[in-house]
Amino acid sequence: MNIYGFTLEELKEYFAGIGENTAKARLVFNGIYKSGITDFREFGFAERITSRLENDFSFDLPKVVQKNESSDTAKLLLELSDGEHVETVLMRQRFGNCVCVSTQIGCNMGCAFCQSGMMKKRRDLELSEIVGQVLALSREFSCKIDGVSVMGIGEPFDNFENVCRFCDLVSDDNGLAIGRRHITVSTCGIVPGIKAFAERERSYSLAISLHAPNDALRSEIMPINRKYPIAEVLRAAEYFTEKTHKRVTLEYVLLGGFNDSPEHAVQLAELIGERDLYVNLIPYNATESVFRKPDDGKLSEFCGILKDHGVIATKRREFGAELKAACGQLSADYRKEAEKTL
Ligand code: SF4
Repeated sequence: MNIYGFTLEELKEYFAGIGENTAKARLVFNGIYKSGITDFREFGFAERITSRLENDFSFDLPKVVQKNESSDTAKLLLELSDGEHVETVLMRQRFGNCVCVSTQIGCNMGCAFCQSGMMKKRRDLELSEIVGQVLALSREFSCKIDGVSVMGIGEPFDNFENVCRFCDLVSDDNGLAIGRRHITVSTCGIVPGIKAFAERERSYSLAISLHAPNDALRSEIMPINRKYPIAEVLRAAEYFTEKTHKRVTLEYVLLGGFNDSPEHAVQLAELIGERDLYVNLIPYNATESVFRKPDDGKLSEFCGILKDHGVIATKRREFGAELKAACGQLSADYRKEAEKTL
C-alpha cells in the first residue's frame, strides 16, 4: 500500500486494525507531511511496529520525467507506476503557491476546446497519485504549497471519492494544512456531484466551467450540457451556496470569435441576474484545436460589460502559455513524441 493514499482517519483505522494506539497514526501523518519523513525508523517505534509498517507501506511518489519552469509557473510531467503520465502545474500567485492537479488519465467529458477531452479516460487516479503531484512539486521546487486547484486533466466529480479524500487529506491541520478556502474543485457541471459535494461535512470552494451564456452555444462545446443544462447547473450552484455559505465561481474561457462578443457578455450578465455568483474570465490559451485566442481588448471589454451589469468578475492572468500549461498539453505532446519512437 502507498502511505500517501491514506487520510489521517484511514491511517487511524489501520493502526486500530493492527491493535496499536491510534495516536501513532497522527504522529506518522504529521511526520510525513510536516517534516517530509520517508523512513519509518525515524519515528522511534518498537521494532515490531516499524517492521510491520515497512512491510505494509511504501513511500512511492510519481517519477519526474519532464520539468519546465518560468517566472510565474512551473510544470512537471510525472510517470505513474503503470507507465501512464500525468501533469501538474505550480502557479506562483500573490497569495502564495498554488498547485493545479489532475484527477484522471484522459477525460470522458469531451469539451471541444480541451486537448484532454480528445484523449478518452483510461482510468481514475488513486489518492496517492493526486497527493503525489502536490508533493512532487513541493519537493522539486523546494516550496511550500498554499493552495490547490483541482482543475487539471479529468473531471473531478467523475472520480468523486478520491477527490474528496484528497481535499480532506491536504487540508488536514496535522498534515499540509492547506486552508479550505484555498482548495477549489472545478467541475464541468456534473449536477449530482455538485449536490453531493455540497452535502459533505467538510466543504471546499467550488468552480463550475460555464464557458457559454446559453444552452445552444454551450452544448456545441460541452457535451455534458445536453445532460445537465445551464438552468440545472445554476440551481445546483445555488444549492451549494445554501449548504456551504460559499460563493461559487463560474469559469468562462473566452474563445476568440465564438463566445466573446458584447452580446454574449450581456446574455451572461442576464443569466446570472441576482444570483450570488462570481465570474472568472480566462483568455483561451491556444492549442491545436479549432478555437483561437480572443483578440486584444476583448477580455477587458467583456469584463467591463459584466461589471456594468453588477456582476462580480475578474480576469485571470494567463499562466504558463510558454510552458504549454493549457489543460493536457504537456502530456499530449509527450505522448505524441513517445508514439513517434514506437
Ligand atoms: S475541460 Fe476538463 S472536463 Fe472538459 S474535457 Fe477537458 S479535462 Fe475534461
